[in-house]
Amino acid sequence: MAPNDRLDRDAVMSLETPPLQRAGSSGNAAPWAEATADVQVGNDGLQPALSGNGFTYRHDWGARRGQWLLRLNWSELNPRSQVFVSIAEGAGGGPDSGKFIGSARYTVHNVAPRAGGVDIWVNIEWSSDISLYVDYLVVNPALTGTRTVSVTVHRHSSVALSEAEADRILGDMGTILQNDDTGPDVATAVQFVRNGAVRVLPATVPATIATSADLSALLSAGSGVKVVQAIRWCGGPGDNIIGCAPVGSATVNVAAVRFDADQEGLIWVHEYGHNCGLGHRTDDPRAVMFPSVGSDHNVVNAAESAAYLSGPLNITDKVMPASGCNCDMAGLQAPADVRDFVRQGWIEGVPWELASRYGEADARKLLDWLVNEPEKHEKYLAQIVATLGYIGSEIATGALIDFVRSPRTGRAVFNAKNIALIRLGDLANRSASQAAVNFLAQLAGDIDLARSLAAPQAAFEQLEASRTGVTALSAETLAAELAVSATFGLALSGSEPARRTVEALRHDPNAFASVNQAAGEAAQIADTVVRKGRQEYYRMKAQQRHHL
Ligand SMILES: [Zn+2]
Repeated sequence: MAPNDRLDRDAVMSLETPPLQRAGSSGNAAPWAEATADVQVGNDGLQPALSGNGFTYRHDWGARRGQWLLRLNWSELNPRSQVFVSIAEGAGGGPDSGKFIGSARYTVHNVAPRAGGVDIWVNIEWSSDISLYVDYLVVNPALTGTRTVSVTVHRHSSVALSEAEADRILGDMGTILQNDDTGPDVATAVQFVRNGAVRVLPATVPATIATSADLSALLSAGSGVKVVQAIRWCGGPGDNIIGCAPVGSATVNVAAVRFDADQEGLIWVHEYGHNCGLGHRTDDPRAVMFPSVGSDHNVVNAAESAAYLSGPLNITDKVMPASGCNCDMAGLQAPADVRDFVRQGWIEGVPWELASRYGEADARKLLDWLVNEPEKHEKYLAQIVATLGYIGSEIATGALIDFVRSPRTGRAVFNAKNIALIRLGDLANRSASQAAVNFLAQLAGDIDLARSLAAPQAAFEQLEASRTGVTALSAETLAAELAVSATFGLALSGSEPARRTVEALRHDPNAFASVNQAAGEAAQIADTVVRKGRQEYYRMKAQQRHHL
C-alpha cells in the first residue's frame, strides 16, 4: 500500500463517519469522542514548567511527500524526555530562512522519545517532493539534588530479616552509588529509605522460587524488595540465584535471598539497576552491573548513573537470567583453576558459558571437595554441584546422587541438593548418563522417596525455626521442592523418553501437585532441548530474557 492510499482512505472515512452523540445532549452532536484523565503525580510532585534542561533544534529533513517515520539521533535524549514538535514547509535557503504555509498540508502524528533520540511520524499531502523543516523542543526532567527512593521491604515468613538489617542494606545501596570510587566511577546522588515496617510476604508466595509461576507470584506481591529463602528460577531453572528482577519495571521490584552482609547492598542495587532498565556489563569487573558479587563492585558509568538517577523504567516484563547480557559474556575469562571459579558468587546464577569450559580434570578437583571436604566448602557447594553438572562428565554422576541422598542438612546444603538435581539433567545431556536420568525420573514421580530424602532437612528446619523465631518449612514442602528440581533436571536431560516422562508428570495423580504444575513449564523446556539441543536452549535463554 502506498502511503497516499492510506491517507486517502482515512480522509474519506472521516468524512463519512457520522458525528458522535454525546451522552445527555439533546441532539447537539459533537464531532469527537470525549475522555478525561487526571495528571498523574509521583512523589516528586509536578516539575515546574521547563525545569531541568531544555533544547531547541530545527532540522532540515529535505524534500519529501507522503508518510514518513523520521528518526533523529540525539544523545541528550532519553525515554523520559518530553519532546514537542512543529513542522511546516521550509522556505528555500536553509532552516534559518524560516517556514511558510502554502497549499500542501503537513501533519505530525506520533512523537516518541527514546534513549539517544526521538522518532516522529509525519505526513505531507502533496503530489511532488517538497521541503520539510522540523522544530524540536526538548525538556529533560531535572535530576539535580539527591534522589530518594522509598523501598518497601518484604520477607518470607521463613526468612529472618530485621528492620535494622534492612536499613543497613538500603544504606549500603546508597553508599555504593554515591561514592566516587575510581576513575570511571560516576558519583550518583541516589539514596534509599525504608517504606514502613518490614512486611511478611503473603502465603501465595513460596519460600523458594522454583518456577516461572512462583516468580510471577512474588513479583506481583506489591512493589519493593522481596527476600525469600532460595531462588532457583530466573528466566529458567537455575543455580544459586542470589537476586532476580525484571529489566525495566514500573516500580522497585526485586527478588533476593540473604547473603554475606557486605554483599547484600550490591545485590539489591544491582537488581534495582535492572529495574531501571540496565543490563549486565562485563567490560569492567568492578561494575555494579557485572554479573557476579564482589566487595569492590561499585562502579557505574555515566549512562548507568543517569539510569539510576531516573529510577525504575517500565520497558519490559522480562527478567535478566544468569547469562543475559547485552555485553560480551562469552569473551569473559574463566579462572584457570576451577576452584577459584566456584568461589565466585554469580548474582543470577552460574553462567553456563563459563562453567561449560572446564573439563574432566577440573571435575575431579571439584569432586574431591564435594566428597571429601563438604563441610569445609559448604558455602560453595551450590556452585560446585552446578559446575559439575555443566562440565557434564559421567564421573560426577554417582557423587552428585550420593550428595542428594546424604543426610547432610543446612539451608545452603539443601539448596545445593536441589541444584544438583537440576544440573544432573545437564550432566545427562552431555554424557548420556542413564543413571542420572533414572534417578531424576524416580525422584520426580515418587513422593515417598522425596519425603525420605527431605526428612533430615525438615528436622533441621524445626530446630532452626525454634532458634530464630521464623516459620519452619514443612517436610512436605521440602520434599516437593526436591521433586520439582528433579522434574526440571529431567527436562534438561534432552532425550525423547525423558521429555515424555516430563509430559506425563503434568497429569500424574501420584506426583506432588507442585510437580504437576512445574511439569507444564518443564515440558516446554524439554521440548526446546530435544528439538534444538541444550546449547541452543541456553543461547536462546540468554538472548531473549525469557518472559516471567
Ligand atoms: Zn543481574
